[in-house]
Order: sequence, then structure tokens, then C-alpha cells
Amino acid sequence: MQTMYEQMDTAALDAALADLTRQVDEVKAKGLKLDMARGKPSPAQVDISRPMLDLLSSGADLTDEGVDCSNYGCFEGIPSARRLAGEFLGLPADQTIVLGSSSLNIMQSVLIHYWEKGVPGYTPWSKLDRVKWLCPAPGYDRHFGITQDLGIENVPVRMTETGPDMDEVERLCAADDSIKGMFCVPKYSNPTGITYSDETVRRLATMKAAPDFRIVWDNAYAVHDFTDTPDVLANVFDLAREAGNEDRILGVASTSKITFPGAGIAFFGSSAANVGEVANTLKVGLISANKLNQLMHTRFLPDLDAVRAHMRKHAEFLRPRFACVEEKLEEGLAGTGCGTWSHPHGGYFVSFDGPEGSAKRVGALCAEMGVKLTPAGATWPGGNDPHDTNIRIAPTYPSVEELSEALDVLVLAVKLVSAQLARE
Ligand code: PLP
Repeated sequence: MQTMYEQMDTAALDAALADLTRQVDEVKAKGLKLDMARGKPSPAQVDISRPMLDLLSSGADLTDEGVDCSNYGCFEGIPSARRLAGEFLGLPADQTIVLGSSSLNIMQSVLIHYWEKGVPGYTPWSKLDRVKWLCPAPGYDRHFGITQDLGIENVPVRMTETGPDMDEVERLCAADDSIKGMFCVPKYSNPTGITYSDETVRRLATMKAAPDFRIVWDNAYAVHDFTDTPDVLANVFDLAREAGNEDRILGVASTSKITFPGAGIAFFGSSAANVGEVANTLKVGLISANKLNQLMHTRFLPDLDAVRAHMRKHAEFLRPRFACVEEKLEEGLAGTGCGTWSHPHGGYFVSFDGPEGSAKRVGALCAEMGVKLTPAGATWPGGNDPHDTNIRIAPTYPSVEELSEALDVLVLAVKLVSAQLARE
């Protein structure tokens, strides 16, 4: 699609450029210092979980269904936390493990394990000439970092409105046994906010792939709805089991964006065989996770209904911020051809795409105007966005007023860069 600037004659374009440059200079003079880079809740939003901290005191009962949480033992997690993990992931409780605070840490541990020892019955990935990993893009940079760090070749697959491009995923996996896995954020994906369709989930669970192919099913935003029409995700574990692929899916999630980022509890869930095998390897380096934190969490959030009620409080903070993004982008860019963006029903991000070759320049111009964005390219493996279009907007941390100002700056930067590109 042509931008409005590409449709102008030279005189009109030069006038537009002069006007936009003047506006940019005015913003620079304001000395703004705003941040739209961080995918984390605002301080006030985090505060809604503070009552949890009062639930454990020196006089509290520190047992959970007969398990003493104040001592070693119960490696797989306390009963109430495993039940919650099961409800959360869509698995029986005994097919889950509840660990420390970070799901990313679990993903890394499991992939290092397969790298060194192999999926049971198969060659360790480190001993193979070539190992590749599918990375839906735009996607989550920290996922890509785990495989890149191991020396695995990240292969981008374009995200669509219904999830990763499944024709491409199926074609690649059927043809190439060196593809050993794939990252998926199936609900309110980071950063596009889309939820995988039932058809996508079914194809991922049933498609032909290497026997030691594994999908990291990172349901980080499983309950992070902020509209009255939340997206619904099919149960991948059921579909994979029916297709005889139950070992394929490695489920993870955490309460990082439910209670306290970095101080929540993290879940792993998979087939009974995988859970047993992964537990045995993790047990080598851990006697038991922080069960007092697990206990505090399940006293605060005993089941999924309690989690959903808590998430409705989070939504109060998120809704106006996401509405602000939509309003500002619509007001500033609708009909200009200078950008498209996602309209999520939940999660933490909006994905913005500008004209080809614009994203890095928009990021740099926003920085000059005092607005920090997630570095352009970060949403692609190796930081390499092939068309340099994508910008991840993280609207959750700033106040609505700050966000509104930051979005005015983003809109202005997109317009000026689009006009410059039209002139080149
Ligand atoms: N997975 C996704 C998709 C995320 O967006 C994030 C944080 O932004 C994480 C995992 C990190 O989770 P944790 O704090 O459990 O390591």
C-alpha cells in the first residue's frame, strides 16, 4: 500500500517534510523522558497483589494438605500449586511441576537438557551437525535468545492472524529432520496479541515432524484477558495425545504477570513421561523449590476462578492503556497508509508495522524525542527484521498520560520517517 506521502507531488511533500521536522524540533525542546519499551505492569498494578504478602506470617500454618512447606521435600511442587498449574495449563495436576519464579528459566533448563543428553531415545542435539528451531516472528526476543545461545539456528516463520503460517511450518517440518522444535506463545502472543485458531493448534499437535521435535508451548498470557470477549485457546495437550504426539508439547507458564514479576511461581507441564524425565534431571540441581512462595500463592489464588477474579482487577489498569494506543494510532495514522497495528483482546503488547525500512529510523527518532521503544528488530531472531517494519509497543508500564504523550511522539516519528522514505 502507498503512503499518503508517496502520493504527494514534490512541492506538497517538501511542505509536509518541513512541517513535520518543525514539529519534531518542538518535541525535542520539551526534553521528554518516556518509556514504552518495558513489558511489565505499572507499580500501581503490581500493588494489587500486595495482600498476598500478608498471608504468611510467623504464626501461620505452613502445611499444604499435609506437606510441610517449611522444609525440604516435595520436589514437584506442593499439591495445591500443582492443582493450580494443571488448571492453568490444561493438564492433570500430576503432569505438572511447580518450580521457582521463572518460566523462561524452565525453558532454558529443558532445552539445555535435550541439547546435552537428547530427547530420551534420540541423539543429543549437541552431537548433530545441524539443529534448527522455528521462531514465529514477530515474536519474543528472549525465546530466540535461548536457542541462539545454544548454537541452534533460529528459522523465522511469519505470524498470521491465526498463528504461525502453518503451511510453511508443515512444509519445513515434513522436509527437514534437523528442525527440532518451535516456540509458541499461543494466547495473546508477544507481541502481536493474537490467539492461535483451533485449526492452528490442531495442525501443530498432529503435523509430521522429527520424532524428537518439541514445541515450547509458552502460555504466558493464558488468563490475561481485558475485554468482555476473551479469546479461547484449544487444549493442545488433548489434541497431541489423540494424535499419538503427547511428548511433543512442553507447556510452561508463570504468575509473573499475575502476582509479582520475578517473584511468582512457574509451571511446567507435559506428558507423564516427559514430566518424570524432566523432574529427574532438574532434581540433580535442586532439592526443592521455594514452597513457602507456592503456599502464599495458592492461599491467595486457590483456583482458576480466583485467578480470573484477580485478573479482572489487572484488566482495569490495562484496558485504558490499550484503548489509548488504539485511539492515538487511529487518530494519527488511520488512512495515511503509514502503518498497521494489532488490536489485541489481552496480553501485554501491540504490534505495529510501518513502511518497509522504517522501524529502525522510527526507533532512533523517538529516542531523540525522548521516547524509548523496544529496539527495532528485537521481535525477529538475531534482531533481523527482514523488512525493518516491526515495532513492539509495550503500553502497560507508563501512566495513561505518559503513554498518550509517548504515542503522539511515535505517530509523529512514523509520519516523518514515512515522508523521508517517500522523498528518497
Ligand atoms: N514468556 C513470554 C511470552 C513473555 O512475554 C515473558 C515476559 O515478558 C516471559 C515468558 C517471562 O516469564 P517468566 O517471568 O516466567 O520467566
